[in-house]
Amino acid sequence: MSELDLILLGPPGAGKGTQAARLTEDFGVPHIATGDMLRAARAAKTELGMLAQAFMDRGELVPDHVIIAMLLERLAADDARDGFLLDGFPRTIEQADALGAELEEHDRWLTAALLIDAPDEVVIARISGRRVNPRTGRVYHVEFDPPPQEGRDADGSELVQREDDRAETVRRRLEVYHAQTAPLIAYYDEKGLLWRFDGTLPPDQVHAHIRATLSTVRREEDA
Ligand code: ADP
Ligand code: AMP
Repeated sequence: MSELDLILLGPPGAGKGTQAARLTEDFGVPHIATGDMLRAARAAKTELGMLAQAFMDRGELVPDHVIIAMLLERLAADDARDGFLLDGFPRTIEQADALGAELEEHDRWLTAALLIDAPDEVVIARISGRRVNPRTGRVYHVEFDPPPQEGRDADGSELVQREDDRAETVRRRLEVYHAQTAPLIAYYDEKGLLWRFDGTLPPDQVHAHIRATLSTVRREEDA
């Protein structure tokens, strides 16, 4: 079978992380989420974490050269040699070009860019109800995917709201998405790599659609 080198595109709150958790289980490729990596760096108070903090709290993007260096280092790890699922990267044309150049250098190419799309009002409602288990990263929604008990996960951890999920910051993140990340839709479409999914559907349906598409793409690649 051909390797799967995938990226997930879409506005914040569209359900990228939710689908990534399922897809990595389906296909055994590592889920590489730059947002999760930055939050881990912040928690560990590394130099990178300290630098990223101010950008993240304002809902702005961390500078390209910083995020590209972090991602390329992660991609060089053993577990990403035979495939990966990127979530939250690339977010700018410069990041996409850097990823393309790195893959080309290793005779690899992207299998697909999976766009999970949803209108602003839908993602705002989702983000405002998002709660995260800080220990495992498991994501819930107070209404659409409620945790086993109010405010707590099955392992007893208290669920938290992400700092940047507050209403003011969410609006800025959406502006940044439309201005800087949405141009990647045309970028990957022109390369014949873009697949669109209706992120307003329930998680199981979005997942089923992505799986169906990936099995077609793989059959074509293997033919
Ligand atoms: P992203 O990774 O794109 O920022 P998440 O996967 O964290 O988005 O999802 C954002 C919020 O929306 C979470 O609280 C999640 O539980 C909820 N969610 C995800 N997918 C759906 C869906 N298809 N329908 C309803 N709620 C969803
Ligand atoms: P996310 O968890 O994907 O919603 O990302 C949270 C925040 O991390 C974003 O609002 C940015 O500040 C930062 N971030 C994550 N990925 C990137 C990226 N590829 N480029 C720049 N900033 C990023």
